[in-house]
Amino acid sequence: MKDKGKISRRAFVKGATASLAVTTTAFGNSDKKNKPLKQISKKKNQIKKKVLTAVDNLRDDLIQLVCETVKIPSVTPGYPGPKYDSADGGETKVAKYLKPVLEEIGLKTDMWEQEKGRANIVGTLKGSGNGKSLIFNGHIDVVPSGSPEMWTAAKPWSGKIADGKIWGRGSCDMKGGNAAAIIALKAVLNAGYRPQGDVILEYVVGEELMHTAAGIGAVIERGYRADAAIVAEPSAPPYRLAIAPTSTGMLLMRVTVKGKAVHSSMRSELVRAGGAGAKVGVNSIDKVMIIYQALNQLEDQWGQAKSHPMYTRPGHFTIHPGVITGGPVGAFLISDESKIEYYISHAPQDTPEQVKEEVEAQIDMFAKTDPWLRENPPKVEWLVWWPPYDVSAEAPICKAVAAAYEAALEEDAKYYGFAAVDDAAFLNRAGIPAISIGPGSLAVAHAPNEYVEIAELVDAAKIYALSIIEWCGV
Ligand SMILES: [Zn+2]
Repeated sequence: MKDKGKISRRAFVKGATASLAVTTTAFGNSDKKNKPLKQISKKKNQIKKKVLTAVDNLRDDLIQLVCETVKIPSVTPGYPGPKYDSADGGETKVAKYLKPVLEEIGLKTDMWEQEKGRANIVGTLKGSGNGKSLIFNGHIDVVPSGSPEMWTAAKPWSGKIADGKIWGRGSCDMKGGNAAAIIALKAVLNAGYRPQGDVILEYVVGEELMHTAAGIGAVIERGYRADAAIVAEPSAPPYRLAIAPTSTGMLLMRVTVKGKAVHSSMRSELVRAGGAGAKVGVNSIDKVMIIYQALNQLEDQWGQAKSHPMYTRPGHFTIHPGVITGGPVGAFLISDESKIEYYISHAPQDTPEQVKEEVEAQIDMFAKTDPWLRENPPKVEWLVWWPPYDVSAEAPICKAVAAAYEAALEEDAKYYGFAAVDDAAFLNRAGIPAISIGPGSLAVAHAPNEYVEIAELVDAAKIYALSIIEWCGV
């Protein structure tokens, strides 16, 4: 990757694109042969410069678009936890806000509620012909704000601008990326160029809870297809605006362990040597910790055993205990049931069947070491599987976006596996090669005081705009 980046950066400085630079080397230095190439590359370079200037000129529009959409709470209905915000129907409000914005730049829009109060919107710009088509995809739903008192830097739905950042729930995940794609296309058109291939902007609902049938699945089913797709999710860390040709897969799992209820005063019988033990009672909280230890140990093993070329930092694939409950009645009783819910982030090359088998074998092995769990095996429930995607870094869409990145930012493009899961998985499964790259960091997504940096938004819009030029042609 690094070497390739160097070639294209040098090429940009000289005034050629990455692909043309390679062609020039291949064809040698004959003046006659190079003349048309030089002319083409000079023209292409001029186009890129004009488009980049057009993005800079739209900086205020970009900021406004992010702020205004952040101000509309569009929480995925049914998100677990307390309802801090009564924001059902917010997704349709965002779609309605975007409709005139898309139409104003010349897109034909299609807005519909697959589920009530949950409108998807797709804007299409027909190409002038003979170009490859490109989808930009993003979700308009967000997670709840969480406790408002945790938001010390800005109010969750403020869209406040301070310290070069836009603050608020959804600024990073992912109203920033959504706005950057719109501004990118607007900049190409403002600069006076019409893409040869179709450009399709998709804004979908329900990504945060994998409500695929209402969101991305409905859009795919409605017939929206292209030669490639860019999902504008925040793609840091570890790299700012990383190109993510790959994602993890995600499995949600619940383990339930039974105990035997008795008055809390009997604890000594359960935990001291010589006590009556299970004849009197069993604390399910003590027993569920065995499962916790088992899966912590498996997670450690994964840290060393599981790898993928797009995840070069050790230990990316994890078994995260997200919710642990026990003793549903109260502390005066020995708990008779405990549960742990896990978010398992698995390697892209592993099948869900493989992962389930490994996890269940580990639970089983640890359960067999305990007399109570041997007789009362833990119940394992598999709740959700979100598939990974794995596009080659050599895929044409990756190369086009990398060339755009290097021309826009004048530095090597950086690749890294997407740390989470996103709708690129479903686009890929529908046969549309899709990758993720977008402004913001998953380190601040879903957290209080979420923000996106304005400079990063502008850079993202520049990369998207030049990706349109590279991919669709003008
Ligand atoms: Zn997201």
